[in-house]
Amino acid sequence: MKEVAVAPKLNVKVVIVILIHVLLIGCDSTEDNLQHKGGVAISFDDHFIDEWYQLRPVFKQHGAKVTFFITCSDTISETKRRLLQDLQEDGHEIGFHGTIHGNATQLLSNAGVNGYISTELEPGMKYMRQAGFHPTSYAHPGGNHTQQADSVLLAQGFTILRDVAKNERSLYGIRLYHLPPRYMPHIYYTFDNDRTVDALTIDTDVHISQEEIREALIKARDTGTALMLFGHKPLNKEPGEGEYGFRVSFLKYTLAQADSLDLQFYTMSELPALSAQRPKRSSL
Ligand SMILES: [Zn+2]
Repeated sequence: MKEVAVAPKLNVKVVIVILIHVLLIGCDSTEDNLQHKGGVAISFDDHFIDEWYQLRPVFKQHGAKVTFFITCSDTISETKRRLLQDLQEDGHEIGFHGTIHGNATQLLSNAGVNGYISTELEPGMKYMRQAGFHPTSYAHPGGNHTQQADSVLLAQGFTILRDVAKNERSLYGIRLYHLPPRYMPHIYYTFDNDRTVDALTIDTDVHISQEEIREALIKARDTGTALMLFGHKPLNKEPGEGEYGFRVSFLKYTLAQADSLDLQFYTMSELPALSAQRPKRSSL
């Protein structure tokens, strides 16, 4: 009986120590010692070019630079080309998000490396280049990839590959967990020249509160890291069936907070590019 009683006490101690460590992490450095200015790297996926363009004034208001990952299954119309060019001239980055928005694991197992390249990568990149864009960053369609897919993409010349992170998961409508984003170390870029990264979705289905995003931004400022976020379609109302998107009001709040906290806005390709100029930072 005694042993049974002791074991849970030890476990509680261990949990408390871990919790204290988690709570204190990020408070161990002052801004003066940081090698990079804390910031935020926001990206947007798929093909909502008209809708993203509507956000241009709010990006300008806060001096925000972001990355648009374009799924490009056909030639880019002249109208859309101009919109993307305007966004690029504003300082935003145009990245690539596949030709057919396929499942990389399945494509590789069914068609092999050459089939993956000729189906998912080459046609879309050709359309992008024809329109005058030369993406150096890639977001995995559906957040699906393998080590082999990563190797192929890096060999094709992409300098950063972005995957998907979620702070909340549900199963059959029941919430399994909800994490405050500040406790998710992998969504912070530490300027360690990492080429495979995770960005936290800000779409409505993961229910990030304004307070949570503010705390997550403060952590980026205090640790000299870049908080990586992404979303799909800008929404002014509840999403429809099968619609992925984020609240425009939430994005506006996030940009305003980042601005008032004096955070740096990074595009995705800037993250490894700026890392290369600096020695590796040790801790987050
Ligand atoms: Zn997508």
